[in-house]
Amino acid sequence: MDAARASRFVGQAAARGTRVSFEFFPPKTAEMEQSLWEAIGRLAPLQPNFVSVTYGAGGSTRERTHATVKRILAETMLTPAAHLTCVAATSAEVDAVIAAYAQAGVRHIVALRGDPLGGVGERFSPHPGGYSNAADLVAGIKRNSEIEVSVAAYPEKHPDSPSIAVDIDMLKAKVDAGATRAITQFFFENDLYFRYLERVRASGIGIPIVPGILPVQNFKQAKSFAARTGASIPNWLAERFDGLEDDAATRKLIAAAVAAEQVLDLVDHGVTDFHFYTMNRADLVYAICHLLGLRPAREHTGAHPRAEKERA
Ligand SMILES: Cc1cc2nc3c(=O)[nH]c(=O)nc-3n(C[C@H](O)[C@H](O)[C@H](O)COP(=O)(O)OP(=O)(O)OC[C@H]3O[C@@H](n4cnc5c(N)ncnc54)[C@H](O)[C@@H]3O)c2cc1C
Repeated sequence: MDAARASRFVGQAAARGTRVSFEFFPPKTAEMEQSLWEAIGRLAPLQPNFVSVTYGAGGSTRERTHATVKRILAETMLTPAAHLTCVAATSAEVDAVIAAYAQAGVRHIVALRGDPLGGVGERFSPHPGGYSNAADLVAGIKRNSEIEVSVAAYPEKHPDSPSIAVDIDMLKAKVDAGATRAITQFFFENDLYFRYLERVRASGIGIPIVPGILPVQNFKQAKSFAARTGASIPNWLAERFDGLEDDAATRKLIAAAVAAEQVLDLVDHGVTDFHFYTMNRADLVYAICHLLGLRPAREHTGAHPRAEKERA
C-alpha cells in the first residue's frame, strides 16, 4: 500500500483546498420539507461552498424551488444556487424568474436547458419565444445580471449528443457565454471523468469541472436515473448490491464503501471540489465529507444558524 496517498492525510483537507457543494430538490409535502431541513441542518456546519436547489422538469417546481432558495437565504448562512431551465418557457418568463432571484439576493444560478417535456429521448425543440439551449440561457443571465453561473457537463456525453466532441463544443459555448463552473452528471468509473477532463482541457476550457457524486442511497433508483441520463452502471457496482434487496442496513454500508472508494480515488488524483447529489438525505454525504477531512464549524449548531446568530 502506498502510504503517500493524499486521501490518507485527512488533516490536510483545508490546505488541499477541499470544497464541497450539496444538491437538494424542493420538497412536495410537509413531511419531505421536514426531512430536507433535517438534511440541511446536518450538512450546513460542514460549510459547503454552495448548496443548490433543483428546478423540476419544465419548470414544474418553479414556486417550490424559489421558496426553498429563499428560506435557505433567510434562515441559514449557506450560499444557495438556484437551478433554472429554459425548456417550455418564453425568454420573458425565464427572465422574470432571473430578476426575481436577483431581487431575492440569489447570486448563483445553475443554468440548464432541461429535458424535453415528453422525457429524455424525445427530440428537444426550443420554445418558439424561448432560449434555445443552455448556452443561450447563460448569455441571457449574464446580459441581465451579475449572477455567477454554473452549467452541466457530461463525462459520458449527453444522450442527445452525437459524440463527446460535439458535447464539449456545447460546453465551450456555455463557457464563452459566461459560465464559470461546470458540474458533471454522476458517474461511477473515475476514469471516465479523467478522460473527459483531459479532452475538456485539450479543447481550451479552463473552468472547474466539478465531479457530481451520487451516493447510492437506492440502487434501483440510481439505475433508473442512469438509464435516463446516459450514465453507465458498471457490472461491478450491480454485483456489489446484488442479493441485498431485503437488507437495507448492508446496502447502506456498501453505498458508503462505494462512495468512499470513488471520492478518495478522486482526491488521490488531485480533485479538490465535489458536488453531492444528496437526494435530501444527509447520512451518507456527511460520512463521505468526514472522510474527506471536513469537520463541522463550531458556530454552526443547527438548521438555522443565521436565525440563531441574530438571536444571540
Ligand atoms: C449538474 C446537473 C444539474 C441538473 N439540474 C437539473 C434541474 O434542476 N432541472 C432539470 O430539469 N434538469 C436538470 N438537469 C438535467 C438537464 O436539464 C438535462 O440533462 C438536459 O437534457 C440538458 O441540459 P443542459 O443544460 O446540459 O443542455 P445543453 O447544454 O443546452 O445541451 C445538452 C446537450 O445536447 C446537445 N446539444 C444541444 N444543442 C445542440 C445542437 N444545437 N447541436 C448538437 N448538439 C446539441 C449537446 O451535446 C449538449 O451537451 C441537470 C443536469 C446536471 C448534469
